[in-house]
Amino acid sequence: MKNNHKYIFVVGGVMSGVGKGIATSSIGALLQAKGFSVNLLKVDPYLNVDAGTMNPIEHGEVFVLNSGLETDQDMGNYERFLNRDLTGDDYITSGMVYKHVIEAERALKYGGKCVEAIPHIRDEIINRFQKSAKVNKSDITVVEIGGTIGDYQNIMFIEAARVMKVKYPNDVAFVMVSFLPVPHALGEMKSKPTQNALRQLNSYGVNADIIIARSEVPMDHRRKEKIAVSCSLPVEHIISAPDIESVFDVPINFEKDNISKILLKILHLKDKKNGPGIGEWIKFAKSVINTKDTLDIAIVGKYFNTGDFVLTDAYVSVLEAIKYSSYKLGRKAKIHTINSRDYEGDALKTADFKALDKFDGIIVPGGFGESGIEGKLAVIKYAREKKIPYFGLCYGMQLMVIEYARNVLGLKDANTAEINKNSSALVIDIMPDQKKKIAEGNYGGSMRLGAYSAHLQKGTIAYNAYSSRRSSAKADKNDVIQERHRHRYEVNPEYIKKIEDAGLIFSGKSPNGILMEIAELPKKVHPFFLGTQFHPEFLARPLAPHPLFTAFLNASIDRKK
Ligand code: GLN
Repeated sequence: MKNNHKYIFVVGGVMSGVGKGIATSSIGALLQAKGFSVNLLKVDPYLNVDAGTMNPIEHGEVFVLNSGLETDQDMGNYERFLNRDLTGDDYITSGMVYKHVIEAERALKYGGKCVEAIPHIRDEIINRFQKSAKVNKSDITVVEIGGTIGDYQNIMFIEAARVMKVKYPNDVAFVMVSFLPVPHALGEMKSKPTQNALRQLNSYGVNADIIIARSEVPMDHRRKEKIAVSCSLPVEHIISAPDIESVFDVPINFEKDNISKILLKILHLKDKKNGPGIGEWIKFAKSVINTKDTLDIAIVGKYFNTGDFVLTDAYVSVLEAIKYSSYKLGRKAKIHTINSRDYEGDALKTADFKALDKFDGIIVPGGFGESGIEGKLAVIKYAREKKIPYFGLCYGMQLMVIEYARNVLGLKDANTAEINKNSSALVIDIMPDQKKKIAEGNYGGSMRLGAYSAHLQKGTIAYNAYSSRRSSAKADKNDVIQERHRHRYEVNPEYIKKIEDAGLIFSGKSPNGILMEIAELPKKVHPFFLGTQFHPEFLARPLAPHPLFTAFLNASIDRKK
């Protein structure tokens, strides 16, 4: 059977958390730079049908695709490295696969057969790999199989990949990302765990074609030879991947060991000469290292309580979006995390609002639930009154509207139905068609998820930002943008006129005019006081920063001056 499409399966050896996602993204970016059309696919072996129900403190940010699928944050890395949108078919969980097979069984789709993991689950996985290739019309699909070799959870996926290699030996490559410890007591890089991981992979009937050797330090030739011999690979197929200052240097570093050339050879593909190359990427990666001037940006959130680790994971797309726009403006953003609970309740007595003055800009990112809300509202009020650039993302926009309603319109009881259903001024409320779903306990189904359009009002800060050329999100000729959503509540249509009369402009609205997408104060009133109902951070890319983040940071630079 002929297949034509090429697949690269990336698996983890030894342990997780050593950069398999970045390795996958980097391989994709390099092959794309050669001129191939590439899509990346993430396999998460857990039983959740999607990532939407997972707590960001435990699992990190939930990333949202245009299709509305809620995924693991790796999908964000993929889109950022590839600089393209991925589809709902580029994400697979065990939950999705099993749900599909079990539902098909209940619907008598298997013609009375005994339904089993092999072949039915395995073949459903293969179907999904192939569907993703087809939907993307790509030349190459790079599949990252979550977890590490030896996990029970991912065995079916590796088995599916093995079968594809048997069927299409020239079209499938395996890459193992492994870790080589350098124990301090020994001071020597140890290769045994990697050899053992490879043996485990072999026991599934698969050999790696390439081993990416993650370590603190670069790998010397001697070690490469040792691994090559014990893993039955040519020495060039061992790629040294030491810790480096910036993840954006990873593809550049891989290329030093010719990874893309080797992959093309394994996949029986001729090198192309017409690709865009990685010049632009190198330029960006250099700016990351070389930028010295700083900006102080505060993020006011509540998912900080288990230390820095949580911050970087729960708000990863926001942090990335800030980076891309700030590098574009020749600045390095220093992020300060503010726990909103420090600005409410008993803490208010000692709360240091003046400390906020030292920030060049303040962001309130997305969030859910009641805790920390009054603190966020207090900070937003301060930012508005003291004219500190403020950028509200989703919840951050809803709270900005509530703050304005309370303190400018004088609706002291203004609130969102998420916090107080009995408020006499529900400026943020649930839309009627969602109420029914919530009453049925269908919380997932009541969210507005994925890409929706918004029409921009001419002459506003938002309109001007989206007119900039080289950005990830541009308005079309009808002044319409597409942005990704993940929320349940909306600005209540009953209050729109009152709020606008009081000076807050809704500069982006759904094309039918019912849903408020962007709120802002005019520039002559405040240098930057803007919030979006959508999540602009999901569209920010290294080579195409998001126009609203750029506009916000520009205002922050002006403040610093
Ligand atoms: N909790 C708010 C809502 O559901 C905002 C969600 C968010 O910030 N992603 O509407």
